[in-house]
Amino acid sequence: MWTGSRRSFLTTVGAAGGLALHAAVSRRVTAGPLSHWPLTTAPEILNPRLRVPLSFIIDDSTCLVNMGRFCMPQFAAAWPERAAYQKPWKSWPVEIPDAFVRTFGQWCARHGVKGKYSVVPYPACVGWLDRELPGWSRQELEASLQLVRDLLLPNWDIHPEMITHTRVIDLQTGRPVPEISPGTMENWYPPARQSVDELAVYIAYALRILRNCELPCEGITTPGGFGSGVEQELSLAVQQAVRDVFGAEIPHYFKYVAEGAESAEPRIEHVRQDRDHTQLTVSIYAGTGDWFGGWDGDDQPEPDRYCTRDGTQGRLVELIRRGEPAILLCHWPGMYTQGTQQGFAAFQQVVTALEEHYRDATLWMKLSEIARYWAARRLTTISTQVGHYVLQAPFACPLFTLRVPRLGTQPPVIRTGARQIQLHAVTQPAQLASGTWLPESEHAVVCFDLTRGETTIEA
Ligand SMILES: [Zn+2]
Repeated sequence: MWTGSRRSFLTTVGAAGGLALHAAVSRRVTAGPLSHWPLTTAPEILNPRLRVPLSFIIDDSTCLVNMGRFCMPQFAAAWPERAAYQKPWKSWPVEIPDAFVRTFGQWCARHGVKGKYSVVPYPACVGWLDRELPGWSRQELEASLQLVRDLLLPNWDIHPEMITHTRVIDLQTGRPVPEISPGTMENWYPPARQSVDELAVYIAYALRILRNCELPCEGITTPGGFGSGVEQELSLAVQQAVRDVFGAEIPHYFKYVAEGAESAEPRIEHVRQDRDHTQLTVSIYAGTGDWFGGWDGDDQPEPDRYCTRDGTQGRLVELIRRGEPAILLCHWPGMYTQGTQQGFAAFQQVVTALEEHYRDATLWMKLSEIARYWAARRLTTISTQVGHYVLQAPFACPLFTLRVPRLGTQPPVIRTGARQIQLHAVTQPAQLASGTWLPESEHAVVCFDLTRGETTIEA
């Protein structure tokens, strides 16, 4: 929910020790003792296929229920003095229909768009997606879930955005806690310090409802300011809950927005070695605000703030030029925009401009794919030996791309165990794909699907 709490929290984190929170482990690049080859530079892990990752974060989506309409009166009850919550919600559509999900999902599939789609499990306390959604028949609910599984799952991560996105639920009874105040709204929860275990139990409850709906998750989205004040605990709680419920190898979450010059790259948090597995949480940052239709679907879209039609200006252009993930943010009611679909039209304009001007420089990815890439990028170690490089990778990673100084004159060869990959040469950066390499004067850029464990590169 875009209420300013995401953004205003960011200011505090910068001042209050964001560095400690982001316990990133730097990639180590070492020259082995046997190395006597002249190195012009060290090996460098680059963006996948030399392209800037693009991703589309959709918050406040669920099955059928228009969250903009149903959240508004509950926010107004918790914040009676806030004018932003005094909107004519009763005149807004009750439903965001599956016909719109289908139109949107099919258009995105045709254009290769990928990202994250929230499914709020008990949306605004209207009904339980794994049981009963009053106002819609069982068949309508089941058909809506099936549409998410069939159409969206291939290209979108599914996240719970906590349980209701409005009232805090008593996990013993399944009922909203009786008191109505900001402290009993998920957006501003918890009102006081909480332990990792307490947060993990709440997050796991939300994840289990989606598991009942046969919607697998590798991450979660925080509703607005959920977890503010307990940032470190939240990150570890996400790791535990997502692993416990879904056994995900690389749990990730979305909470923060990078503004201005702040890095928009994912943060690797709570890294530790657990027997032969590396445990971690990846925090994915959005790089933009919601300039489509807003959380309530009541805003005028401003697509040029993302990318102008001529491709010269906008926040996404800025991020693409910086080489950092360009991750757009929106809210599902803002795509539907009370039925006018103006937000969706604005999004189509942005995607079309990106295709026209940055098709060969960008790559749409799911948040889980970005999380995996950055986990591998930060935690894979590289050492230089006579005539080859040795990589130790804690995670497999498709499209792993790195630039290495040439150690010999033969085309690069990758070896993992008994398997050997002969790379095909390409002549343009845009042609880089898995299993290819690009010769440069004293370097080679190689792109291949990295496997977990040891890999050698002769280059
Ligand atoms: Zn939200």
